[in-house]
Amino acid sequence: MVRYVYDFTEGGRDMADLLGGKGSNLAEMTRLGLPVPPGFTLTTEVCRVFLETGSEPAGLWREVSAHLAALEASAGRSLGQPDDPLLVSVRSGAKFSMPGMMETILDIGLNDDSVLGLAKVSGSERFAWDSYRRLVQMFGSTVMGVDSSRFERSLALLKVRRGVQDDVRLTASDLAELVETYKNLIHLETGAHFPQSPAEQLRRAVMAVFESWNGERARLYRRREHIADDLGTAVNVQRMVFGNLGSDSGSGVAFTRDPATGRPGLYGDYLPDAQGEDVVAGIRNTVPLAELERLDATSYDGLRTHMRTLERHYRDLCDIEFTIERGTLWMLQTRVGKRTAEAAFVLAAALADEGLITPDEALDRVSGEGLARLMFPRFDTSSTGTALAHGVPASPGAAVGAAVFDSAQAVRRAAAGEKVVLVRQETTPDDLPGMIAAQAVLTSRGGKTSHAAVVARGMGKVCVCGAEELTVDTEARRFTAADGTVIREGTIVSVDGSAGAVYAGPVPLVDSAVIRYLEDGTGDGGARGVVDAVARALVRADTVRRLDVRANADTPEDAARARRFGAQGIGLCRTEHMFLGERRKLVEQMILAGTDAEREEALADLLPLQRQDFVGILEAMDGLPVTIRLLDPPLHEFLPDHTELAVRIASAQARGEEPDAHDVELLSAVNRMHEANPMLGLRGVRLGLVVPGLVAMQVRAIGEAVAERLLAGGTPKAEIMVPLVGDVRELRLVREEVQRVLAEVSRAAGVALDCPVGTMIELPRAALTAGRIAEEAEFFSFGTNDLTQTTWGFSRDDVEAEFFSAYLDKGVFSTSPFETLDREGVGRLVGIAVAEGRAARPDLKIGVCGEHGGDPDSVHFFHTAGLDYVSCSPFRVPVARLEAGRAAL
Ligand code: ADP
Ligand code: MG
Ligand code: MG
Repeated sequence: MVRYVYDFTEGGRDMADLLGGKGSNLAEMTRLGLPVPPGFTLTTEVCRVFLETGSEPAGLWREVSAHLAALEASAGRSLGQPDDPLLVSVRSGAKFSMPGMMETILDIGLNDDSVLGLAKVSGSERFAWDSYRRLVQMFGSTVMGVDSSRFERSLALLKVRRGVQDDVRLTASDLAELVETYKNLIHLETGAHFPQSPAEQLRRAVMAVFESWNGERARLYRRREHIADDLGTAVNVQRMVFGNLGSDSGSGVAFTRDPATGRPGLYGDYLPDAQGEDVVAGIRNTVPLAELERLDATSYDGLRTHMRTLERHYRDLCDIEFTIERGTLWMLQTRVGKRTAEAAFVLAAALADEGLITPDEALDRVSGEGLARLMFPRFDTSSTGTALAHGVPASPGAAVGAAVFDSAQAVRRAAAGEKVVLVRQETTPDDLPGMIAAQAVLTSRGGKTSHAAVVARGMGKVCVCGAEELTVDTEARRFTAADGTVIREGTIVSVDGSAGAVYAGPVPLVDSAVIRYLEDGTGDGGARGVVDAVARALVRADTVRRLDVRANADTPEDAARARRFGAQGIGLCRTEHMFLGERRKLVEQMILAGTDAEREEALADLLPLQRQDFVGILEAMDGLPVTIRLLDPPLHEFLPDHTELAVRIASAQARGEEPDAHDVELLSAVNRMHEANPMLGLRGVRLGLVVPGLVAMQVRAIGEAVAERLLAGGTPKAEIMVPLVGDVRELRLVREEVQRVLAEVSRAAGVALDCPVGTMIELPRAALTAGRIAEEAEFFSFGTNDLTQTTWGFSRDDVEAEFFSAYLDKGVFSTSPFETLDREGVGRLVGIAVAEGRAARPDLKIGVCGEHGGDPDSVHFFHTAGLDYVSCSPFRVPVARLEAGRAAL
């Protein structure tokens, strides 16, 4: 029989699929013997059934009742018992943590009777009424759908009337009055009453949590984090413990190490006399965890011990939620904590040093995406003026943008292409769209564990929070710094998430320490920890990876940089830029040539220029392979724009002048060469086959460059790559010409030239006939950009802006197939081509040179597909090295 409910004593961390992250970790802590209030978990399966059928599975409530009865028995009182009520929380918890995205309801079991019982047994009327008003508010908003700001307004109003600033200053009778106000508000808004039956409260709260899985906020978060929509959430029902029982009670959140830097030490926030949700919400300002040592040394020591236990047990950074009830410490949540990219590297190295994890595990704990983030530029602090304010450096990086004060405005401006910084007093899950749209998030309240900090860190977004010197006025759309500077909406600010500083105006950027290390092997003192950790991860990756990593580079400078970044050659040297600039004239002459002689003359002029380019690149990559692709784009790309020419001619005619003869000639060439679908037109190998002399000139330039480098004592390793081949005969024809020209050059120069000839696989037909093509190709290189376009039948330039966002919204794609290789379709073609190519030619060398070569997920695919190398832009080379290593684990 299927079970739908598990007691905390029955689960464990390996059951996250069924019990969710929160539930499985509560069970794990229970098993470890940590002080966890007892409870039970309704599985994600219940949620899936509910989402599919619209109602809960049969028999669920019978199971829940049995577990509740056991909970009541162990507590010696029943849910909502009037003289001494057992209270529970109903907590959401999916497999992957979705901070603040779903609902949790505390203090279930309180009603007009049991609140009095609670007051009596606890000896605190104030506490009882405070708990009750929390329940009515949470239940009213989450379950009954009353806008939570309505409750907050009533609370604020009451505080004004009582002349107090802080919730804790409200008396028991104030709070009792507030409960009445809330109940009336609910009735007014919904026509229904707040339910007095504890059983009904529990049942409805559970259903509301399941429903919150499909809330707009939760869906948006999942899309952004690539979490599947059909996982569902579990629901945890847990005995309440109370942090709001006075000054010897409180709630807090903590990390076993600093989640921003990875450095050791306890980090966290504590709030005396508060229930858990107050800490994260930033309602009152928290105190640092160290303060707890002074307030309650016993609990502090206990907390430290438990945190050590957890870190050893999970062998990773953990974050936790805890509550102290009258001096007794309770653990309410733990999970492997989110961290910044910097912290991930530092922590992995440290845990390996401590022997908690192996070097391979350390490599697995970091990511190429994280490394890419560490390679972003930083602010040049030497030239910055004084900061407007300092806050908590919650999520590192440098961001410059226009200040905006609400989520909608952030989204609007970002959609118009503007870079924005979202400034709030604190953020709530409703701000999520704005946080996604913004370059950075800046808040005046909250600590490292506030909503803004946690969510920004998860997204890799720059965040400074708790900048208390700032007065943020969202209504007036401005903030004021301590020195009186007023920043209005639209004013540029710079946010330094690493230092926790905010500046007016744009601050210039400099290379990150990681880039400096990659460039010249040095780091700077301050960032030593992260630079060393990155270096160690890369060394490990290089040791274990099977894939080689090459770079896409067209200039000697790029080639040299790629080499410093660890590239083992060039996988794609495009020749098109060599036809631009001043050389455009020569290309024009070639295109316009009326006779063979004219064309040959133009080609002859291009030859020495191309040769010099190749010499430079071969020199920079001496000893390593350089794959040079013959000219690929349609020729008309090298001609002037049609409209421009037409206008020039028309305006000459309008002035009564004779139009420039050259212009006229050009225009007719442009017209002649016009293509409806240039992407599918006269380009690639087709050009080489129809424009006489074009291939010969390029190959001669390559051959002569190789000869020159050989004679200079170098070790040039040029490979000649033919683009857009769809049939083996195309390749055969070009290859014959290549070999003829190379032979000529070789004879003339008196050196042997050994340049392998291969082809790109970027058309479905090429992949499907790869066995034939391999007869003529010494290597394959997947051009996955074109292969994606031609497999899907859409042109990247035309569709990305147009309908991709709709496709992402509707879930047709979870990521753009131009970013992450579409394994199902394009990947299948890759698989066929690899298998059939190698069958025909066992020593066929196979690589990829599309942009996917630097995408982490795609690198893993290419590893599995058995490729020899990936090639990507120079800045992605370290990322690809790291991911190729991780793929080999
Ligand atoms: P989230 O997933 O948003 O963190 P939680 O389920 O963890 O939501 O609950 C929100 C807050 O309520 C947390 O601070 C948590 O510690 C607190 N809380 C949850 N259950 C209990 C309980 N049984 N007793 C006391 N506090 C609780
Ligand atoms: Mg929650
Ligand atoms: Mg929590």
